[in-house]
Amino acid sequence: MFLKTIDFSKYSSIKVGQHTEVLMIEKEDEIPTDRYLIAGANNLLISPTPPPLMMLSKDFAFIHEKEGYLTIGSAMPTGRIVSYAKKHNISGFEFCSKLPGTLGGMLAMNAGVKAYEIFNILHSIKINSKWILATDIEHGYRFANLNGVATEAKFKVVKGFDTVLLKELLNLRTNQPHDPSAGSAFKNPEGDYAGRLIEVVGLKGFRKGDMQWSKIHANFLVNRGEGTFEDAKYLIDLVKEKVLKECGVKLIEEIKIL
Ligand SMILES: Cc1cc2nc3c(=O)[nH]c(=O)nc-3n(C[C@H](O)[C@H](O)[C@H](O)COP(=O)(O)OP(=O)(O)OC[C@H]3O[C@@H](n4cnc5c(N)ncnc54)[C@H](O)[C@@H]3O)c2cc1C
Repeated sequence: MFLKTIDFSKYSSIKVGQHTEVLMIEKEDEIPTDRYLIAGANNLLISPTPPPLMMLSKDFAFIHEKEGYLTIGSAMPTGRIVSYAKKHNISGFEFCSKLPGTLGGMLAMNAGVKAYEIFNILHSIKINSKWILATDIEHGYRFANLNGVATEAKFKVVKGFDTVLLKELLNLRTNQPHDPSAGSAFKNPEGDYAGRLIEVVGLKGFRKGDMQWSKIHANFLVNRGEGTFEDAKYLIDLVKEKVLKECGVKLIEEIKIL
């Protein structure tokens, strides 16, 4: 393992943050328990004082196919997983296209698009060096209780990459803002949409400094240039307060604030 300095104003998808030291893990048996694990930083908002961080190195970016199963390392970027599935005519991973990040982030977030979620196709995950069946892991809409570091995961190989579905899913993305963001800031409350509630309380397009609730998709907190953590946090807290007061709904962040 080794320490690496990462500039989060460039590395994170929302382009907020500073130079911060991250411990790079190269082997499964050297993972400390007192550090917060990050991956592609597509769902993160880093404060000026984050907890000690760690990240799985490239050693955890692999795909092996054996005896009807794909074993994928957690540091594998989603784009490369989709390319592999397409090339080898494997079904199930189409929804991962345009879902930025790594397999590890997808597992921890139970990331998905519409009805497609990673747990739907997952066989098992290696967590803290032990294989656990997906059915034995508590999970739901944008969460999974991994209780540790997932280093790799297994998927049953089902033949038939669906290019029509891929096209449909890519078309869904056309209403998303192009400015830097961390995807949806809040989870959708049951039976409703966080974006709709942000609009109802009049905060769609509302800006503080260079951070703004997107005019295109209200649940996307976008960085219009030199956005800061403080402005982002202010806007998140403001939405939570107004939506609770005016709509009686307690919004829960999807974005992880460190
Ligand atoms: C433009 C845009 C669009 C997006 N659209 C969607 C969408 O449609 N659907 C959706 O679900 N998400 C979406 N996201 C959010 C993001 O793509 C997903 O949450 C993704 O899975 C995050 O992966 P990551 O590698 O960047 O994880 P990070 O952001 O680095 O980490 C996210 C969480 O995963 C945990 N984690 C990461 N790796 C591991 C591991 N190996 N073991 C245990 N825990 C781990 C971290 O501790 C953290 O809590 C979008 C993001 C952006 C920027």
